Amino acid sequence: MEKTYKWRLDNAGKTRDFAAALAAMLAPGDFLSLEGDLGAGKTTFTQGLAQGLGIKGAVNSPTFTIMKEYAGRLPLYHFDVYRVGEDIESVGADEYFYGDGVCVVEWASLIEAWLPQDRLTIMLGRGDENDVRFIALSPQGKRYVELCEEFERNAGFGD
Ligand code: ADP
Ligand code: MG
Repeated sequence: MEKTYKWRLDNAGKTRDFAAALAAMLAPGDFLSLEGDLGAGKTTFTQGLAQGLGIKGAVNSPTFTIMKEYAGRLPLYHFDVYRVGEDIESVGADEYFYGDGVCVVEWASLIEAWLPQDRLTIMLGRGDENDVRFIALSPQGKRYVELCEEFERNAGFGD
């Protein structure tokens, strides 16, 4: 098992800032799995990612459309697979999962078998206080271990 990297995020703005800082380090083809209950902050995190990639305009949950694509420094493919589950096969997701943009998938564990083996799993969870979230980054594969190490060293999110 690789190391897990953890932080506390005191409010939604912190979650966006955290994601924006991570976005600055992302490269074409990066794959992020987002886990956490409803309201944990997966879409909020994605909004920060989009901001960090220089994407203008609103990013909302693609629950009904499954995927939305945004143009920024890198293309962002934002999936929410809550409603598709294993039917993801019929969506043609591989084009995006193995594409040249940054792919971020809310509820990725529901389609575990379809996920790239190398990926960064991001888990969001609530604490006792209303606006507090705990985030854990769990890298699989060399690229994502290095990304986590670089982020921990340079992002200025001391824990
Ligand atoms: P999900 O996509 O996981 O269902 P959302 O991002 O849509 O969750 O919703 C998270 C909600 O919680 C938003 O209303 C957001 O403003 C609020 N919130 C409060 N504190 C935080 C925090 N620290 N991080 C992220 N969201 C937070
Ligand atoms: Mg969401």
